[in-house]
Amino acid sequence: MSTSIVRALKCRECGHEYEIQPVHVCEFCFGPLEVAYDYDKLQGKFTRELIESRPQTMWRYKELLPIDGDPTVGAQNGFTPLVRARNLEKALGVSELYIKNDSVCYPTLSFKDRVVSVALSKAVEFGFTTVACASTGNLAGSVAANAAAAGLKSYVFIPHDLEQGKVLGAGIFGTTIIGIDGAYDDVNRLCSEVAGKYGWAFVNVNVRPFYAEGSKSLGYEVMEQLGWKAPKQVVVPMASGSLCTKIHKSIKEFIQLGLVKDNGTRMYGAQATGCSPISRSVKEQTDLIHPVKASTIAKSLAIGNPADGFYANRVIRDTGGWAEDVSDTEIIDAMKLLAESEGIFTETAGGVTLGVTKKLLKQGKLNRDEPIVVCITGNGLKTQEAIMNEIDKPRVIPASLKAFDELAHAAGIEI
Ligand SMILES: *Cc1c(COP(=O)(O)O)cnc(C)c1O
Ligand SMILES: [Zn+2]
Repeated sequence: MSTSIVRALKCRECGHEYEIQPVHVCEFCFGPLEVAYDYDKLQGKFTRELIESRPQTMWRYKELLPIDGDPTVGAQNGFTPLVRARNLEKALGVSELYIKNDSVCYPTLSFKDRVVSVALSKAVEFGFTTVACASTGNLAGSVAANAAAAGLKSYVFIPHDLEQGKVLGAGIFGTTIIGIDGAYDDVNRLCSEVAGKYGWAFVNVNVRPFYAEGSKSLGYEVMEQLGWKAPKQVVVPMASGSLCTKIHKSIKEFIQLGLVKDNGTRMYGAQATGCSPISRSVKEQTDLIHPVKASTIAKSLAIGNPADGFYANRVIRDTGGWAEDVSDTEIIDAMKLLAESEGIFTETAGGVTLGVTKKLLKQGKLNRDEPIVVCITGNGLKTQEAIMNEIDKPRVIPASLKAFDELAHAAGIEI
């Protein structure tokens, strides 16, 4: 039995509605399509008690995710820890700070497992047997893994110069990896052409409206984990800008359904200075996004022409938030700070998010006396190149007590 309350695909610009199908662009105005729901059908039926009675996966909110039946792909995905980060609170001088830790998301250690399980479950409902994506790294691994587990054939398209951990982390699942001699924006352009010609489900091209909805699950979890409260301030990393807009959508939905009270949530966006078209537009207080040529160690966020940049900018400014960007050095410093203070090893994108949090605190844009949720979206084991030369090397000695005594003495270690 379908529990779906999905009504249609709706153009974000002109409002034209389409039947549910694998399309992502409006025929009339070329605006992006978004999934629209009949929330009224859920009034009084989608309760905290019902949600809490379900398994701890992202699918406990399935009424608000755009598939008809039960998930056929990624049924275990999501529900990551929300960590009260007391050491970081001290280090940053703030009263209440939480890490939403998607660096341990199941199964491929990034928040992309959320969007992929929705996209692939929907692709199966549409009857596709081959899936694909244009990826900055994490999406490739997630599509490859979730497709393998679901018995789907996959092709992943990536810029040729990604980190080893991202390439291996896709290849191990037996997918076909196509490395493009170009930047992500070139990969994406090619994939639009391939999607039209080959008839595959490209998770972030023709099934993008469904894919993007998966990001809402991160927001739902945060609110439930805060004790059914909307967060006050949320800091989100931005590549296309989609995650930022969807966390905001998740909060609006929970308010509308009476699951949380409106808390005046402010959204804050984080980018790397080497690829900061969205944060720049916010700082310049314009809604024009100027595409850039990316150059940053935060490769998973390196989208020079962000599809949802305009909408992310609007959400940030409408909610009274702000955006900032940080240098490669600041990214590495923040990765180390998170690891040394909270024992969480995040990838470069996480360094961007925490680095920007520090900067916004210094500027007074984030309020130190109100709770802050920092979204950590990927795992550090996949971007080892970035910190390889930044950490202490092992001190190699013979396996003798005498050798250790000498080392201990030289290091000033007391017995
Ligand atoms: C893809 C990605 C993001 C941002 O995604 P968008 O929704 O495109 O803004 C953030 N963090 C990590 C680690 C990612 O892989
Ligand atoms: Zn339109």
